[in-house]
Amino acid sequence: MRQPMVAGNWKMNGSRDFTHTLVSDLLAGGVSSCAAKVVICPPFPYLGVASDGLDGNGEVALGGQNLDVHESGAYTGEVSGAMLADMGCEYVIVGHSERRALYGEDNARVADKVRAARAAGLVPILCVGETLAEREADRTEAVVGAQLDAVIEALGVEAFDGTVVAYEPVWAIGTGRTASGEQAQAVHAFIRGRLSRHDGEVASAIRILYGGSVKPDNAAALFAEPDIDGGLIGGASLKAADFLAICNAAG
Ligand code: PEP
Repeated sequence: MRQPMVAGNWKMNGSRDFTHTLVSDLLAGGVSSCAAKVVICPPFPYLGVASDGLDGNGEVALGGQNLDVHESGAYTGEVSGAMLADMGCEYVIVGHSERRALYGEDNARVADKVRAARAAGLVPILCVGETLAEREADRTEAVVGAQLDAVIEALGVEAFDGTVVAYEPVWAIGTGRTASGEQAQAVHAFIRGRLSRHDGEVASAIRILYGGSVKPDNAAALFAEPDIDGGLIGGASLKAADFLAICNAAG
């Protein structure tokens, strides 16, 4: 039985005060007693504020939104997995569609980031998903399959052992347009099936989150699907009440 998970991707939003208030409001709202595993991913500069606010509360985990492939050195502006772990992160988002589209991260680079995350002891949340044009051209499975295969070819299916995949159709991220439960379930089942070609145990244990305009009013229907193990939440993770409602819908 997979424990559901809800991860909040704050993207490049917030401030010191915002972080402090949001973490306090989540704790006051009972996030620690949620049955789902909850992860919050604030921007790098606010990881320390979030960690202090959580004050050792092991029920809510911290994650980074990205990492570099190197461990340390002359890579100005970058942040390593070891640094994230040092700041208390247990998770890191890898290959978000904004990173792929805006920062040129291709499948090979994303695979290298999965390797770097695992080497630092972090659990990667690997994002995959198709654009609207790709969906309309009936290429969803080809695109998502290639995104998964790049990691399997570089690192072996073991790279997915105990990790998390987030299916995030690009056309649903931040658009208010959500995949239906049926559309999302079809791709989640495809992802699990693709992994099970290589290792059935890894495939049945892995959490596959759905992301793309998840809100309190559509979360329960999505999470009811058998292969949807929770959500990766962008906009709604910035509002304590909405994020709490989504966490409660998951578990
Ligand atoms: C995301 O950024 O990963 C995301 C799913 O955003 P939103 O929930 O705002 O669509």
